[in-house]
Amino acid sequence: MLWPRLVRALVSRPLTDPAGAAPAETVAALGERLATTARARLGRSLAIREVDSGSCNGCELEVNALQNVAYDLERFGLRFVASPRHADVLLVTGPACRNMAEAMERALACTPEPRWVVAAGDCAVDGGVFKGSYAVHGGVGAVLPVDLLIPGCPPSPAQLLEGLLALLEAEAAPRQK
Ligand code: SF4
Repeated sequence: MLWPRLVRALVSRPLTDPAGAAPAETVAALGERLATTARARLGRSLAIREVDSGSCNGCELEVNALQNVAYDLERFGLRFVASPRHADVLLVTGPACRNMAEAMERALACTPEPRWVVAAGDCAVDGGVFKGSYAVHGGVGAVLPVDLLIPGCPPSPAQLLEGLLALLEAEAAPRQK
């Protein structure tokens, strides 16, 4: 019967915990530094193409959070783009699934130089919970040349920002191939 369930759902308390507040000051400080560094290194804002190589979507929730009203990273010029042809960074989440290997290589080939590859999340770092599965090669590094590893399951938006900032602030020039 639907009605008793509906009434129970309406009168019972939510089972989920209330969301914690975003660390606004930390995010604002990191976002400002990222915008300034991107302008100094690239002469413009940073463009990111997110590639899901087989994740459970937990990492995508955190990556997407960078664009929501709490973090709103576009105010600092951080942009997620729809095509690798417009990207500076390939932000790859999930283990390197065998079925995604060719798509990953094609995405890299389409990304103009200079470019960076970032492996975000424990699965992207070394296969994570999927390590040893017949369906994966391992971490993203098994398929693509990785410039930065951001561990975490999943990494928080602030950790993703810190990683991108470290990438841009690194002494080494972006990868040229
Ligand atoms: S690191 Fe964790 S959240 Fe991200 S894809 Fe792997 S299991 Fe999912």
